[in-house]
Amino acid sequence: MTAYPQLRLCIAGEWRSRPGAPVLNPFDDSVIGEVPHATRADLDDALTAAVEGYRQWRNTAPARRAEIMRHAARLLRERADDIAVSITLEQGKPRAQAKVEVQRACDIIEWDAEEGRRTYGRVIPAEPGMRHTVLREPIGIVAAFSPWNFPISSPARKVAGALAAGCAIIIKASEETPAGAMHLVEAFIEAGVPRGALSLVFGQPSEISEYLIPQPAIRLVTFTGSVPVGKRLAALAGAHMKPAIMELGGHAPVIVCNDVDVQAAAAVSATVKARNAGQVCVAPTRFFVDESVYDRFSEAFAEKAKAVKIGNGLDPATMMGPLANGRRVEAMERLIADAVGRGARVLAGGARVGNRGCLFPLTVLADVPDDALAMQEEPFGPLALISRTRNLDEAIAKANSLPFGLAAYAFTNSAPNVERLSNELECGNLSINHLVASIAETPFGGVKDSGYGREGGTEGLACYTVVKNVSHQTVFPA
Ligand code: NAD
Repeated sequence: MTAYPQLRLCIAGEWRSRPGAPVLNPFDDSVIGEVPHATRADLDDALTAAVEGYRQWRNTAPARRAEIMRHAARLLRERADDIAVSITLEQGKPRAQAKVEVQRACDIIEWDAEEGRRTYGRVIPAEPGMRHTVLREPIGIVAAFSPWNFPISSPARKVAGALAAGCAIIIKASEETPAGAMHLVEAFIEAGVPRGALSLVFGQPSEISEYLIPQPAIRLVTFTGSVPVGKRLAALAGAHMKPAIMELGGHAPVIVCNDVDVQAAAAVSATVKARNAGQVCVAPTRFFVDESVYDRFSEAFAEKAKAVKIGNGLDPATMMGPLANGRRVEAMERLIADAVGRGARVLAGGARVGNRGCLFPLTVLADVPDDALAMQEEPFGPLALISRTRNLDEAIAKANSLPFGLAAYAFTNSAPNVERLSNELECGNLSINHLVASIAETPFGGVKDSGYGREGGTEGLACYTVVKNVSHQTVFPA
C-alpha cells in the first residue's frame, strides 16, 4: 500500500514545497502530512503563468484538448487504488467509496472532454449579405475553491469543466484533504495540459480568495461549500463584476408516499445516508413519511442503520468511516441534543464512539418537530430526521419550507404524485424512486440559498463559456 504523498503546490507547471499546516487522519487524529501554504509570490506566479497557459490552451484544437483530458482520466483510473488510500487517510471514507469517487471523477473528466468538442454556436437567419454568428468562447481564467467532503471528484468537476471549455484554472482545494486534488492535477500535468493552464494552491482560504477573486485576469469564480462562505465569495465576485458558480449547502427532503414498498425505501435510504458519513450536500436528510406507513418505515430504517458497521476506512469490513473533522462531531452532538430536548426519539445511534478520532454512528431520529435546529440547519453528517405527514400537500409544504433548494427525492408509484412533485418542489435536482442526485451527463446545482450556476451536463460547460455575437455585412465597397 502506498503511503500518503508528500504534498506540494503546482504553479506554472512546477511542483513547489512550502511550510504550511498539518493534515490529520480523522480516524485517529494522527498527523499524516503537511499541506504547503502558497505565498503571495506563488499566487502571482500562478496568475502570470495562467495568462500564457490560457492563450495556449484556448488555441489548442478541441479534439486535442479532449485527448489530453482522456489521457488524464486514464492515468487516474490506473492509479485509483493508491489514490483511494490517500483519500481514506485524509478524509475517512471507506476505501471502496474512495475508489468509486476516483472513478466518478474520471467519468466526469471523460464526459466533459467529449462535450467540450460540442460547444457549438449558432447562425441566425438574416437577409443575403448579412451574417449573424453566435460564438461560444471560453470565459477565461477561472478561480476555483473546492471543499473537503469529496477530495477528488469536487475539484474534478471544476478542473474538467474549465479545461473542456478551453479555460485556464487556478484551484485552491481543501487544506484538510489536499492529496485528492494533488493526484488530480498531477494526472492532468502529466497528460500534457500546458504549463500555467492549471495551477493548484493551498493556504489560508480567505486570504487566497480575497486576493485572487479581484485580480483582473480572473474572469469566473466557482465555489463549492457552505452557504455563508458562498455568499461572501459571491458578493466579492459581484463587486468585481465576475460571474460565479455557487454550489452550496442543501438539506434534502425525501417524501415517502404510501404506494411503495416502504421496507425497500428505508433500506436504500439508510445505505445512501451512510455514504461519506452523510457529509454530502445532496444527502437525503428530512424524511417526510405518510402517516399510514410511518412506523414501518422508521423501524426498517433504524434496523438498517444499526447494521452499518463504522470504523477505520482502511478496514474492508467498514461500511461508514469517521466524520472528516471534529467540527462535524460537535455539530452532530449539538443538533441531536436540541432535537431530543424538543421531543424527538432516538431510534439508532445518537452518540460519538470513543474519545479519539471522529467516529459517529448512523443516527436515526423520529418524530422530529419542525422547529428542531436539525430541521433548519444542514446537519452535514450521518443524521436522518423522520417526520410524519398527513398528505402530499403537507409533505411538499415542509420540503419547500427552508431557504435551501439543492436535491430532493420522493418514493411513489403514482403518476399524478410525480407530476405534482416535479412541478412544485423547489430544488435543482429531483430524483424519484432512487437517491442519486446527478451523473456526469446531467446538470447539477441549486435554487434559493443553495446557489446558482450548474456543474455537469451541457449546462455545466456553458457556465465556463461566454457568448459573443459576430454580425458581418459580407459586402462592403472596397
Ligand atoms: P466552512 O463554512 O468554514 O467552510 C466551507 C468550505 O469553504 C471549506 O472547504 C473551506 O475551506 C472553504 N472556505 C471557508 N472560508 C473560505 C474563504 N473565505 N474563501 C474560500 N474558501 C473558504 O465550513 P466547514 O466546517 O468546512 O464545512 C461545514 C459546512 O460547509 C457544512 O455544514 C456544509 O453546509 C458546507 N459544505 C458544503 C459542501 C458542499 O458540497 N456543498 C462541502 C463542504 C462543506
